[in-house]
Amino acid sequence: MNLDGGSQAAEPLLSSALHSIRQRIAAACARAGRNESEVTLVAVSKTVAAERVQEAIAAGLTVFGENRVQEAEAKIAQLAPQNAQIEWHLIGHLQSNKARKAVALFDAVQSVDDEALAERLNRIAAEIGKRLPVFIEVHLGNEDSKAGVAPGEALPLIEKVSKLSSLELKGLMTVPPFLENVEEVRPFFRQLRELRDEALRTGIAGTAFTQLSMGMSHDFEVAIEEGATLVRIGTALFGARA
Ligand SMILES: *Cc1c(COP(=O)(O)O)cnc(C)c1O
Repeated sequence: MNLDGGSQAAEPLLSSALHSIRQRIAAACARAGRNESEVTLVAVSKTVAAERVQEAIAAGLTVFGENRVQEAEAKIAQLAPQNAQIEWHLIGHLQSNKARKAVALFDAVQSVDDEALAERLNRIAAEIGKRLPVFIEVHLGNEDSKAGVAPGEALPLIEKVSKLSSLELKGLMTVPPFLENVEEVRPFFRQLRELRDEALRTGIAGTAFTQLSMGMSHDFEVAIEEGATLVRIGTALFGARA
């Protein structure tokens, strides 16, 4: 026991937070008749110091989400050498002038939302001999956010991105509005799933287009009930961001 207090006292114990999140994921999967192995927990480590990310790795987490290229660059440089098995996903908006850095750094980019950006990522990935996993971010009812392609333009973008040979199109991502009552978020998650299913049915994206990255600390259980295959969780795991 740490009797002299210290700065760590105020932080929730990461391993117990993780345990409780995993239980909630399992319960949501059970309610939906899904297998837990279908859901990947992406630990959102934006603003979290590298030391604490290392703790999360020690607790068993393997996939991390960052929303800024610059911040991720420093963290990955510090952590990657001793943690080769860890995956880093970019989940925030990508400016085209940071595309080159992003392709080199990340194992997946979840925030592709226009054709020009996709083509740029494809060109750079081809140059450095990498096949980059990507998700298309769809804008669903979130007035505060400009990120993401409009739902009506998603299918044509999916079709175009699926033809770029140095990108591996995995699926869709969304950040719906924050609504106190999570039941009100459910229709947005359902809408993302229906978009994926339509792309699969019409064959425009190939059969590997299966992933749905949706659900955050506040609403991940509903997202899982609606088919999420990746949930992106920050505050429930690491505590409130400064
Ligand atoms: C910050 C962030 C998250 C995590 O949010 P929490 O509410 O802290 O779980 C997930 N996805 C994106 C795109 C984010 O920017």
